[in-house]
Amino acid sequence: VEAVEHCVILLEDDPLFNAGCGSVLNEFGLVEMDAGIMDGTTLAAGAVANVRQVRNPIALAKRIMDLGEQVLLIGEGAERLARQQGLRFEPEDYFITAPRVQQLARARRAGGARLDHEDEATRRYSTVGAVARDGNGHLAAATSTGGMTNKRWGRVGDSPLVGAGVYADDAQGAISATGVGEHIIRYVLAKRVADCLAGDHTESLQCIDRVLAEFQQRLRGQAGVIAINAAGHSCARCTTQGMVHGWIDAHNPPYCSIDMG
Ligand code: ASP
Repeated sequence: VEAVEHCVILLEDDPLFNAGCGSVLNEFGLVEMDAGIMDGTTLAAGAVANVRQVRNPIALAKRIMDLGEQVLLIGEGAERLARQQGLRFEPEDYFITAPRVQQLARARRAGGARLDHEDEATRRYSTVGAVARDGNGHLAAATSTGGMTNKRWGRVGDSPLVGAGVYADDAQGAISATGVGEHIIRYVLAKRVADCLAGDHTESLQCIDRVLAEFQQRLRGQAGVIAINAAGHSCARCTTQGMVHGWIDAHNPPYCSIDMG
């Protein structure tokens, strides 16, 4: 759990990605962030939605998980807890970058909320996620995002929702997803992947391919998934325009790719 939190914090702090600093902008040009984290051993989970100015939404999600009273807090209530817990806040303009302002202008011209992946200029650097398995077979997953460009104020995506954009169960696997939240929520995408993620690397990839193909067929949904199964096989796949991903384990050289998987 600490590993996925740490990885996601690094990506939230990097303005290239759609999470934390550099998040996409909503219909009013504001950054509203969602994040979720899950422990596959205890099935504990913590999540936040529509938080503003919290530097690392995933750290707040982790804190909610550790406190163990609630799973999901939103908006001002979540921000209040972040203050009480001494988490870092940043001014609004820390989160807003010039490419995101330009992207919002393009999305407004095109109309409606747009997926970061669809944008030629930024499509490789979208929502961020991490999955991990330790030497004892304990799994964890985390996902963090600014959501979709030009999204309606108050809109919540899949990323903080257990079974949709984030899921971990030691018996199955750990999954983090990206794509149009409205589709991913309705398909319970991460849990569907977890349900077939057994076997070796090839079998896990086949599982993800099958789920993504059905997802496309049923909802015309496009998504990207990173996953690690109970046996420790990592894989990633996307039907979106591209997805930067990589993994590292104890036996092989680190792997990194900027396209499909
Ligand atoms: N899944 C995110 C959302 O709908 C967006 C993304 O993955 O780019 O909020």
